[in-house]
Amino acid sequence: MKKGTVFVLSGPAGSGKSTVRERLMQKGLNFHYSISDTTRKPRGAEQNGVDYRFITKDEFEEGIARGDYYEYAQYTGEYYGTPVSQLIPYIERGVNVILEIDVAGAMQVRKRDKNAVLVMLLPPSYAVLEQRLRDRGTESEEKILKRLTRARDELEYFDKYDYFLQNDDGKIDECVRQLEIIAEVEANKTKNNPDFPNEFFNK
Ligand code: 5GP
Repeated sequence: MKKGTVFVLSGPAGSGKSTVRERLMQKGLNFHYSISDTTRKPRGAEQNGVDYRFITKDEFEEGIARGDYYEYAQYTGEYYGTPVSQLIPYIERGVNVILEIDVAGAMQVRKRDKNAVLVMLLPPSYAVLEQRLRDRGTESEEKILKRLTRARDELEYFDKYDYFLQNDDGKIDECVRQLEIIAEVEANKTKNNPDFPNEFFNK
């Protein structure tokens, strides 16, 4: 059976990742959104088990020791990780999985899965990013500055990604459309269909 593909969506906080991912999921395509574990506190209307599974540092470290994580990283002092159970069973069933994770996590995924598709989502400019983070108004100045510094570091990984999408103000749907196109193109890559010649002759 054809396996699902892992799509990694990364980008600085304020790039619109969650919105793009939510709209993609609403389309009812063959995608599972991998719900990460994190030790950070819920923000705004976030729900446990929907946006993240919010757990303690001890619980997270026990999970690391058990090998529960496909990848994990620390981001502004908190743990974030993709449980193996959010990924492997879906891929095996032919369902694509979308991971919304940071650059360190993306590099771990690339190492484990050569067919993973890495997509970086970016705002039009650094100035726009800063404005968006301040407008969100959910975090302290200290956290905002940490996220901005982090955004600079993340751009260092630009050329390690397969694709980048620019999320201009008011153009979210265009980003979602481009992501759908990327998924279609990937589905038709020969390397993602190794069994096709065999099936072709035996149908
Ligand atoms: P936020 O606190 O804004 O929700 O997320 C902070 C950063 O952690 C974002 O870049 C987000 O994509 C990333 N992140 C979320 N879940 C995971 C995960 O499971 N693994 C890794 N490596 N990063 C994650």
